[in-house]
Amino acid sequence: MADPSPDTEDALHEQRDWLLVTLSCIGDAVITTDLAGRVTFLNPVAESLTGWTQDAVGQPLDRVIRLINEESRQPVEIPTVEALREDRPVKLASHSLLIAKDGTERSISDSAAPITNDRGEVAGVVLVFRDITERRKTERALDKALAYADDIIATLREPFVVLDSDLRIKTANRSFYDTFKATKGETENHFLYDLGNGQWDIPGLRKLLDEVLSRNQSVHDFEVEHSFPELGRKTMVLNARPFPPDSKHPELILLAVEDVSAVRARADELAEACRHKDEFLATLAHELRNPLSPIRNSVHYLGLDGLTEGDVKAAREVINRQVAIMVRLIDDLLDVSRISRDKLDVRKERVQLATVVESAVESSRPLLQQCGHELTVDLPPETFYLDADPIRLAQVFLNLLNNAAKYTNRGGQISLSAHREGSDAVVSVRDNGIGIPSDMLSGVFDMFTQVDRSLERSQGGLGIGLTLVRRLVEMHDGSIEARSEGLKKGSEFVIRLPLLASPPTEKLEGNALPTAMRLSHGRILVVDDNKDAAHSLAMLLRLKGNDIRTAHDGVEALEVAEEFHPEIVLLDIGLPKLNGYDVARRIRQQPWGQDVLLVALTGWGNDQDRRLSQEAGFNFHTVKPVDLPALEELLAGAK
Ligand code: ADP
Repeated sequence: MADPSPDTEDALHEQRDWLLVTLSCIGDAVITTDLAGRVTFLNPVAESLTGWTQDAVGQPLDRVIRLINEESRQPVEIPTVEALREDRPVKLASHSLLIAKDGTERSISDSAAPITNDRGEVAGVVLVFRDITERRKTERALDKALAYADDIIATLREPFVVLDSDLRIKTANRSFYDTFKATKGETENHFLYDLGNGQWDIPGLRKLLDEVLSRNQSVHDFEVEHSFPELGRKTMVLNARPFPPDSKHPELILLAVEDVSAVRARADELAEACRHKDEFLATLAHELRNPLSPIRNSVHYLGLDGLTEGDVKAAREVINRQVAIMVRLIDDLLDVSRISRDKLDVRKERVQLATVVESAVESSRPLLQQCGHELTVDLPPETFYLDADPIRLAQVFLNLLNNAAKYTNRGGQISLSAHREGSDAVVSVRDNGIGIPSDMLSGVFDMFTQVDRSLERSQGGLGIGLTLVRRLVEMHDGSIEARSEGLKKGSEFVIRLPLLASPPTEKLEGNALPTAMRLSHGRILVVDDNKDAAHSLAMLLRLKGNDIRTAHDGVEALEVAEEFHPEIVLLDIGLPKLNGYDVARRIRQQPWGQDVLLVALTGWGNDQDRRLSQEAGFNFHTVKPVDLPALEELLAGAK
């Protein structure tokens, strides 16, 4: 090839100078290399970014350009290598840091491209890069701000969605998905009114969003009621805000959907409770006032001269009766306050249903007689044992009997019956009175509920008796149900209570018994620190022809036994001075004590108590109150 003519050479020089000036003036850094990857040129921007001067020329490029990844800080390949390999322009992996000669780190973006000579052969590479440190800072700040916004949305307890201006959902938070039982897939990028097969096409919501879009203004506390096909009726408070706030055309709408259904329902309940309480106070004032007039009249009357003994007695009875009514009202009031504070107390023990019923029937007699009602009580022959508080359970039956008396016209028929159903005792209190409308059958158990609240029809109650009854029955692990065919058709209250499974008296394994025995014509020592309990049992046993002694503490028991040589000892365990176990042990140590029949009387019969009785030498373990027929049956079977 001929040498270039001087003209051509001049033109080439001129072109090269022009290129160098251009490269020196541009804002990007430029470095070129030869095929071997050695630097052949770097412009001033490249010098200032790398910290090298023209001494870089001839150096391997990877000495001059040191790149690491922003996050991992691992070396990053300079794209020149790839550009050479691929013979095409290549961009740098994003988020790379250039480390200058003095250690300064800068974010850069760069690209590399092969240089071809005029014969079309690759002669080297050109690397163009720029300092994007400031841009990366802004990008990172933006990323952080977005993550922050996402976190806020995710943390919000109320359901939240972000819509674009076409009302498509860009994002929703967990609370939205949980509250409205939707998934992300069914929600994101969907048109709002299409969600859940159109269940979000709510007129109130449309109105709100139209307002936000047309006026580009926030709307606050917009209340909407809507029935969702699956979720039922919901009351929602909506808050919507266009974004960006000051632009003419919002790009986004931020929508918070607070589900206030539970709060509203609670508020309604509270208002209802408040109304009940007001009615209750009116009834209470009336009921407490009622007995006062007869009391005042009687007191005046007692102040008159010339009264006979009969007059005074009659006036005293009026006062007694009216005071009893007031006491009952006040007791009910106290119980109500205990129910409200969950402080109702029951002391359970093993009791016989018949005993409890008897006590309730006795207490209800005066009212039943006053109203001229006839009461029939029908209990099964079998003894029902319950784990119950005898006083509270009697209160339950008394309440039902009193209600039957109150809500039955004069001369009515009232019955109380019990039977076994599986492992439950079922007790029914039935009357042929005014009955209960079917829609009130479950409501009558609610606090302050009375079917007829008119004061002139008031029967001297406060509408809390059945609330108390239900609570007490539940505290005995039972249930209660009201039944009635309707008004004037009478009412029935049915209570179910779990029966105690184990029998109250049992023979203790391993303690051989002398002979079969009967609780008659024998020598029996009754030991109980409760004198009334000891004497009443002694009386019963004496009636059966037994010779009876009693003792009220452990030491006395031993002294009497020593002298009396009883055949049977009915021995309480919890005794002053010496407990029942020790008394039993000492009796067994005596020559006369080997064949004595020892019966433990205890408050409770758990396994531990039984084991202790057996170890102390008792033959039987009996749980109070003593059931004489059952004990007798057991003794008769003893061999
Ligand atoms: P009170 O008797 O003080 O009003 P209760 O809680 O005992 O309150 O009873 C609530 C309501 O249930 C009564 O007001 C009455 O309307 C109805 N009720 C209770 N027992 C009977 C019954 N045996 N027959 C008809 N209605 C009854």
